[in-house]
Amino acid sequence: MGEGPADLLESVVGDLVAGRISLHEADRVLGNANAAALARRLALERLLGVGLSSIGSTLLDFEELVGRNIENPIGAVQVPVGVAGPLRIMGEYARGDYYIPLATTEGALVASVNRGAKALTLSGGVRTRILWDGMARAPVFWTPGVEEALRFVAWVRENIGVVKEVAESTTRHGRLVEVQPFFAGNIVWLRFVYTTGDAMGMNMATIATDKAVDWILSNYPGDVRLVAISGNMCTDKKPSLVNLLLGRGKTVVAEALVERSIVERVLHARPEDIDMVNRVKNLLGSARAGSISYNAHYANIVAAIFIATGQDVAQVVESSLGYTWTEIREGNLYISVTLPSLEVGTVGGGTRLPTQREALSLLGAAGGGEPPGSNAKKLAEIVAAAVLAGELNLLAALAANELARAHKMLGRAEKKQ
Ligand code: NAP
Repeated sequence: MGEGPADLLESVVGDLVAGRISLHEADRVLGNANAAALARRLALERLLGVGLSSIGSTLLDFEELVGRNIENPIGAVQVPVGVAGPLRIMGEYARGDYYIPLATTEGALVASVNRGAKALTLSGGVRTRILWDGMARAPVFWTPGVEEALRFVAWVRENIGVVKEVAESTTRHGRLVEVQPFFAGNIVWLRFVYTTGDAMGMNMATIATDKAVDWILSNYPGDVRLVAISGNMCTDKKPSLVNLLLGRGKTVVAEALVERSIVERVLHARPEDIDMVNRVKNLLGSARAGSISYNAHYANIVAAIFIATGQDVAQVVESSLGYTWTEIREGNLYISVTLPSLEVGTVGGGTRLPTQREALSLLGAAGGGEPPGSNAKKLAEIVAAAVLAGELNLLAALAANELARAHKMLGRAEKKQ
């Protein structure tokens, strides 16, 4: 009798436990990514004496994901998703009332965005606009000295038409918008900036830039060497002033005028107190602390939407940088948030996973938009509006000294008195 699938699985688990094969070889031996995930999980359970059945319980099909989204899978973790809304948005791409999916384990976060959304929607809604759009990849080059560095940059400028053609030959949706040079002594960065349709665009920009750099190095007559295709002037997954000033992804503003009666009735605070908290905490406090980001908690909302909708979560670092501004206008509260570097997509990366795609469809922004790029811009406007809701609510809670009480009740399941 031949060896059945259960015998083969058992023998692979045994080989993994004994170290005769490495974790990634299970895929090849079993010929199926789901079976390999199971074998790795069982082997780890035996090796370490831990139970991993919850991680192993998932609707994901690893045949679809291995080679695109994950290596050596053993299952999945689950993060609860709550919805906040409706949130009325009057953007260029997002127009209507939205229910915002937030994946988080922080009690009180969904409630916070929900209360902010209520106040904003009762006041007529949030206006959003995208001020700038571009994904950056900045290769760094060595030259012998500043004269050669300047010659090199001038040559790239003279040949920008061909550079653009070569870069764009790798993609249907990517368009090279500009190449921004930066210098440090003999070292040169070329910050390539692309529009990337509905993709967040990091792979697209890297692949296009790689091809353009190959062409540049084969044709430039001088003495230049590539040090690295990413030279950190991009800047990906690190906080940086270059992203704050020049933008990366989408630069988005969301603003609203909240009537005094709504601030008082829904948020239990006065516009003047919210304005004071914003100036003293977000502006002066951030300056005093040496922060480069002047807000209360953009990262909370950005991270929760990123997890729910399949964004690259490490990009919360730069996507949650930004500025909150408040003014008192005839007794009412004007409030805005500005996110210079919001990196989102509705195709590619984790957006194709089944639960993440459903979360995007909740927002009417799953997959490619018509015209291309409109879905990613819609998502960017929704994220900015949700950030405004969260920011307004937290500032109000601080102004009313309600924060600790809300966290005690919603984060520690203590009952209302
Ligand atoms: P991607 O999935 O690599 O590329 C998007 C793909 O979707 C392209 O093949 C594009 O085709 C296609 N596409 C179809 N319809 C589209 C539309 N309407 N708009 C735009 N593209 C459309 O995604 P990506 O956004 O470029 O990269 C995201 C991934 O990069 C994430 O997984 C992220 O974690 C990872 N990442 C990579 C790096 C890196 O350095 N490489 C750094 C950080 C993160 P065309 O290209 O022909 O237009």
